[in-house]
Amino acid sequence: MGQSESSSTPDVRLIFRNVLANPHSFICVVNLRNTFMSPTPPRPELPDLAPSVQQEVARLAASPEVRSAFNWFRTQEPQLAHWQMEMARIPAPPFGESARGAWLAERFREVGLDDVRIDDVGNVFGTHPGFGRRYVALSAHIDTVFPANTPLNIRQQGSRIYGPGVSDNGAGVAALLAIASLLRAVRIRHALPFVFIGNVGEEGEGDLRGMRHIFSTPRWKDSIAHSLVLDGAGADTIVAEALGSRRFEVIVRGPGGHSWSDFGAPNPIVILAKAIHSFIATPVPSTPKTTFNIGVIRGGTSVNSIPESASMKVDIRSTSMTEMERLEQSLRLALNRAVEDETLAAEMRSSAQKRPSGVSCEVVVIGNRPAGELRAGARILQVVRAVDAQLGNAAQVQRASTDANVPLSLGQEAVAIGGGGSGGGAHTLQEWFDSNGRELGLKRILLTMLTLAGVGTEFDVRGAS
Ligand SMILES: [Zn+2]
Repeated sequence: MGQSESSSTPDVRLIFRNVLANPHSFICVVNLRNTFMSPTPPRPELPDLAPSVQQEVARLAASPEVRSAFNWFRTQEPQLAHWQMEMARIPAPPFGESARGAWLAERFREVGLDDVRIDDVGNVFGTHPGFGRRYVALSAHIDTVFPANTPLNIRQQGSRIYGPGVSDNGAGVAALLAIASLLRAVRIRHALPFVFIGNVGEEGEGDLRGMRHIFSTPRWKDSIAHSLVLDGAGADTIVAEALGSRRFEVIVRGPGGHSWSDFGAPNPIVILAKAIHSFIATPVPSTPKTTFNIGVIRGGTSVNSIPESASMKVDIRSTSMTEMERLEQSLRLALNRAVEDETLAAEMRSSAQKRPSGVSCEVVVIGNRPAGELRAGARILQVVRAVDAQLGNAAQVQRASTDANVPLSLGQEAVAIGGGGSGGGAHTLQEWFDSNGRELGLKRILLTMLTLAGVGTEFDVRGAS
């Protein structure tokens, strides 16, 4: 899941607690209250809903087949929870999604999708026929942020499922399968065909590689008319603007050495610490919202060795390209200063006979997500908002970084929404999903897809194409 603009300002309280067993040590207890879906004020610039779209949605919602579909959803929770847990038990770290992809392809075949296949990078496809040439795409990423060796202790308690990845993107994939299997259980006409996609590479260093591949493939790039991206739980957001991000790995190398006999040699960990210390003092504006994070730090071999290398990973996000560039400059400057500083300090620490050899550093771009937004009056946003009005659902239009960044940056119609239910603790081992409210999410997805596809008499289709 890409974090959205309004979703993740956790209330962090630091409590330093004296550990009784050892009065000289302290542990740092961090209490996180996840305020995941804190409200954003509605965007004032949203145009009024077109009455014609609202009528289309109302007509569809009243049709006998959509009513049967809604009833069918009500009976499916045990199956959906089963799929969700079964999938979450298959590791899917970035660049390691193949086992989960194979599982999803089997499910696609089982629920009766056509032309099920896995592409070169591991994206899983299945289609449901219609009449037009272009598709309505429903996608959900199958990768997680968790490394391959993460214990996947997935368990259920009442309406809740606990464990890494159950919501992000267990909720999205479960909704994908719910819609796909519905189409076999209940006959529903739709004009444009559907393509169901379980894509790889959304999280972290995946850097949207699954979606990038799809939208650079001749088979798909011009044949997807609308993209509906399912990411995480919930039904209360519509991501219609793509938050850009740049990510870096910073690697510092030095001569290394013995902590006693080589004392004085420049220390890459110290360089990183100094660089971080000055980089995080860079002021960032709240509008346009701009953020940074040091997410991973590594280095060293043992307590009595001066490390030969150390590295860190840095994430910069903004709704403004200019702010991202400014922060990148600030990071590079902080690093250069830290190198100079530590090199100088090392020279002063060392004896004249034993001048330390040099330090080098490298900044590697490991992520670069494009920003973009829907054009004003885009049909897909009109449709989702009309569906929300029909279902009495209150949702906020947001800017975030999701798979929808790729089509949005290409000027195509896309939004990202949740798979229903509720969830929390995304990207932590304490992640959870609650199925209460899943039906609302599924109804929302179905009505949106059907409205986008148009209802399928052949005459309508020919008239529309
Ligand atoms: Zn996600």
